[in-house]
Amino acid sequence: MSKIIIYTKKEIEILKEGGKILYTILHTLKDETLENVSTKDLDTRARGLCIEHNAIPAFLNYTPGGAPRPFPGSICISVNHEVVHGIPNEKPRVLKKGDVVTLDMGLKFKDMFTDSAITLVVGGGEYNKVGQEMIDVATRSLNNAIDMLKPGVRTGDIGQAIEDVVRGNKGGKFKIPIILGGHGIGHSIHEDPFIPNFGKRGEGVILKEGNVIAIEPILTEKSTAMNQLSDGYTFVTQDKSLAVHVEHTIVVTKDGCEIVTIG
Ligand code: MG
Ligand code: MG
Repeated sequence: MSKIIIYTKKEIEILKEGGKILYTILHTLKDETLENVSTKDLDTRARGLCIEHNAIPAFLNYTPGGAPRPFPGSICISVNHEVVHGIPNEKPRVLKKGDVVTLDMGLKFKDMFTDSAITLVVGGGEYNKVGQEMIDVATRSLNNAIDMLKPGVRTGDIGQAIEDVVRGNKGGKFKIPIILGGHGIGHSIHEDPFIPNFGKRGEGVILKEGNVIAIEPILTEKSTAMNQLSDGYTFVTQDKSLAVHVEHTIVVTKDGCEIVTIG
C-alpha cells in the first residue's frame, strides 16, 4: 500500500504561491515559443525566469529512477513526435511554424514542488490542425478529471475520466500511452500514487483532503509505440506521429479540488 502524503494548510499555501509562479513562467515561455526560436533559447530563458522569481527549476540535475544521468535542462521541451522528457539544451531544435511544442516544467519554491505542462502550435493552431485538435482533446480530458476530483475519488476514476474524453473523441482517434501518467507531488517532484491516464471507476487508491497530485494526460496521434532515445530521456513515437501533453498540480480540498498551477 502506497503512502500518500496529506499536506498541511501551510504547505498548501506555499504550493499555491509556487504554482502561481510556475504558471507565470510557463505562460511567459509560451508567448516566446515562436518561429526561429530554439529550444536552447527557451531553456536559458526558463532558468532566468526562475532566478527572477527566487525559484529553482526542479528538473535541472534531477535523476529520476532508472535514468542514466541527471537531467541537463531546466525544462522539458518535446517537439512534434517527441512525447515527453525532451532535452532542450542538447541538440537544440529551431522551431518552425506548425511545430507542436510541449513545455513541461517542475518548480521548487520554498522547498515545495509543483509541476505543470502546456502544449502549443508555433504560429497558432491554424498551422497544425491535427496538433491543435490533440491539444484541445487533452485539455478537455484534464478538465474532465479535475471536475470530478474530490475526497473519496480513486485514481482509477481519474484515469477513466481522462479516457472517456479521449476515447469519445471521434471514436478514439487519438491514443493514450499507458506507461506515462501523473503522480503525487509536494515534498518531492514525484511521489505516490501513480495517476493513470486510463482506468476503471472504483479501482485504484482513494484520495483524501490534503493530497496533492499532478494530473497529466499525454496523447499520441496514431500508435502508442514509443522509443527512448540514447540521450536517456526523450521518448518519441515510433511512427513519428505527433504527441501532446498537458498537466496541472492539483490539491484535493474538503469539497472538491483546486488547481495549484494557475495564475
Ligand atoms: Mg511535468
Ligand atoms: Mg508530472
